[in-house]
Amino acid sequence: MNAAFDAALQKELDALKAAGTYKHLRHITSPMAPSVHMEEAGDVIVLSSNNYLGLSDEPAVVAAGKEGLDRYGAGTASVRFICGTFDVHRRLEDRIARFLGTEASLTYVSCWNANTGLFATICGEGSAIISDELNHASIIDGVRLANKAKRSVYKHGDMADLEAKLQAVQGCAPILVVTDGVFSMEGSVANLPAIVALCKKYGAVSVVDDSHGTGVMGATGRGTIEHFGLTGEVDIITGTLGKALGGAAGGFVAGSHALVDTLIQRSRPQLFSNALPATVACSALAAIEVLDAHPERVRALRENVAYFRAGLEKIGLKPLPGPSAIVPIIVGETAFAIAMSDKLLKRGVFVTGFGFPVVPEGTARIRTQLCATLTREEMDRALDAFAAVAKDVGLVEDSIIRS
Ligand SMILES: *Cc1c(COP(=O)(O)O)cnc(C)c1O
Repeated sequence: MNAAFDAALQKELDALKAAGTYKHLRHITSPMAPSVHMEEAGDVIVLSSNNYLGLSDEPAVVAAGKEGLDRYGAGTASVRFICGTFDVHRRLEDRIARFLGTEASLTYVSCWNANTGLFATICGEGSAIISDELNHASIIDGVRLANKAKRSVYKHGDMADLEAKLQAVQGCAPILVVTDGVFSMEGSVANLPAIVALCKKYGAVSVVDDSHGTGVMGATGRGTIEHFGLTGEVDIITGTLGKALGGAAGGFVAGSHALVDTLIQRSRPQLFSNALPATVACSALAAIEVLDAHPERVRALRENVAYFRAGLEKIGLKPLPGPSAIVPIIVGETAFAIAMSDKLLKRGVFVTGFGFPVVPEGTARIRTQLCATLTREEMDRALDAFAAVAKDVGLVEDSIIRS
């Protein structure tokens, strides 16, 4: 043990604690669901999971995982191209492609992994990547790895700035424009019609990471691209299996046969790291089947979002607008947001406060996320807790709550 090294780390940790921005892990002892049991707080309602459709503990999804474990064992003990590909990987990848309306797809152990395995593989010398400034950290890191590409960032959602950045890299090939479908801290959606049109105008490749949109957006839960009626118009889609689609782990890149084949040949996480565990592939496949057979789950989620949003507004809170299942409430300073989430937890509601550096200073927020299987009774109990805490911390007037 290097005592000086550890002491330096501890000093930084102590500073986080003093600033009230230290993160405590909470330990859940039951399956992820709208209500869970937490070691630190007992029975709580979860409003901070990405389990949007309630598929994490869906019996068909759990059973498929168990069958997968029995059939394939624990793992491949190899990377994909050596002897690490099971037939279920191919079935899942075909299913994801069919679900999203692309020619093909390729799975990774996470969407983080997919994003870090994508850009450097397809963007070498002479290429360019243009990225929205609020894109997910995995896109930022993935783009950083493509260090031979010309890289630029456009102001969040600013299509004039995107066009200027596109003009500045004319002559590069390929030119990629990459955006989140749903922005995770805002709950807002990217202006995909404009982005797709600009990509066509300037011969650029459109890339959408729809991790928070899959299962949530669009009439049948196919995501933000379906929401805008753009199926087949986006060149590359990345996404996660670790949110609405079962919530275990796993991610993918979906696009053309040529793209997927290139990634199989050259994407470094594919070449040097094991595949998605077969049991997870089996449960993700089942999750897509359940979603496809039950589009009413997507409608139930949307109804819950509308109900909860209206309830927050009635209390006097002002959630950010947006069509997704992410409903953030800006509260100000980071320590304040964390203190508020602690108070909510004491009242049986598990919801995380986000502050700097995840979001800009002064815009810390409580981010609520809804689930299709939350009951009205659970949402009412959560809203009662929000009303009490909002009053307690002085976010709303007493009179509004009683009216
Ligand atoms: C959650 C998220 C990821 C990471 O997904 P994992 O599969 O958990 O690695 C990537 N991109 C976006 C936009 C996300 O919201």
